[in-house]
Amino acid sequence: MSGYKKFLQIGVALDPIHVGTGGARIGRVDLTIVRDPVTQVPKIPGSSLAGVYRTYVAMAEHERNPNRQVNGRPKPFYPDCAGLGLDEQRGHCRQPDCPVCTVFGFARGAGQEGGFAGLAAFTDAHVLLFPVPTRQGPMWVTSPMALQLIGLEVTGVDRNAAYLESDAQNPLNLGWLLLPVKGCAQMTEIKERLEELSVPDYIYDRLALVPDRLFAHIVNSNLEVRTSVSINPETGAAEDKALFSYEALPRGTVLVWEIIAKNPAHFRIGSQPITAVSNPDDVHEKAKQAHSYLEHLGIGGMGTRGMGRLKVLYENSPRDETSVESAAATSSAASEADPPEEESDE
Ligand SMILES: [Zn+2]
Repeated sequence: MSGYKKFLQIGVALDPIHVGTGGARIGRVDLTIVRDPVTQVPKIPGSSLAGVYRTYVAMAEHERNPNRQVNGRPKPFYPDCAGLGLDEQRGHCRQPDCPVCTVFGFARGAGQEGGFAGLAAFTDAHVLLFPVPTRQGPMWVTSPMALQLIGLEVTGVDRNAAYLESDAQNPLNLGWLLLPVKGCAQMTEIKERLEELSVPDYIYDRLALVPDRLFAHIVNSNLEVRTSVSINPETGAAEDKALFSYEALPRGTVLVWEIIAKNPAHFRIGSQPITAVSNPDDVHEKAKQAHSYLEHLGIGGMGTRGMGRLKVLYENSPRDETSVESAAATSSAASEADPPEEESDE
């Protein structure tokens, strides 16, 4: 049996999503979101994904088995096996039959042997399709680099233009940017692939391809920027000088990421074999339990302001190895040595 298996996941933002950098201020925005250092396109780091998946899988296991015991003592999956596990009393259970601790790993505890990196690793979630207002209603913008993440090689998209189904006389505005319209010969192939990945037709029928260099500009100039006010919890009134702004991926953004599931048969915890899961498909099945929680509880900060819900559209294995390999080449997979990490809320 092979060492690992990769599972492609596609999701759409039901609310604006804010996964923050932790307070860096850029230009007029106080709370910025994480960007890819090379492309400057916003993304959700794999470490943030791993943290929320862990929390939600722990909640799901707790719901199924609220009275779990370890060595004759109550040891609930949630909250004990969620989080960073640094608390000695309420820390990770570290049991080979725990679906949370085997899939997501556990920290090295005080006076205990080494930690375990976990059987599931998460790539960053990248923007695949990005909604932009135009004169003709919303269009979803993508680029050859983004489409590589779903195994498509698109060529000929290199001029400063919006590539649609066919050439057109009138230019198209993508936000502030006015671009000539050209035809893309591969549009049918792209739509078919998106349909296969359960992207809704109201999205794939309104695609605009742009060259990679324009994609980052268009995404960054069409992010949602909101202004809010901090509320003093004691008085319930707005704090003085507490106006702040934050940016977010807009509702309707389609994201793509991968779950890399290692083969449990190749690992031991202490000297014991792992019994919670028996193959990479099991690992993915366990991780997938987070998806209904992602849709209802969301990811990232500002959850109390109605942000962050992410609906997973596609959660299966990619159709062939080529698409997996090309997607892996362009996304930064979390390394095996990564310690389990908790989501940062803001
Ligand atoms: Zn556990």
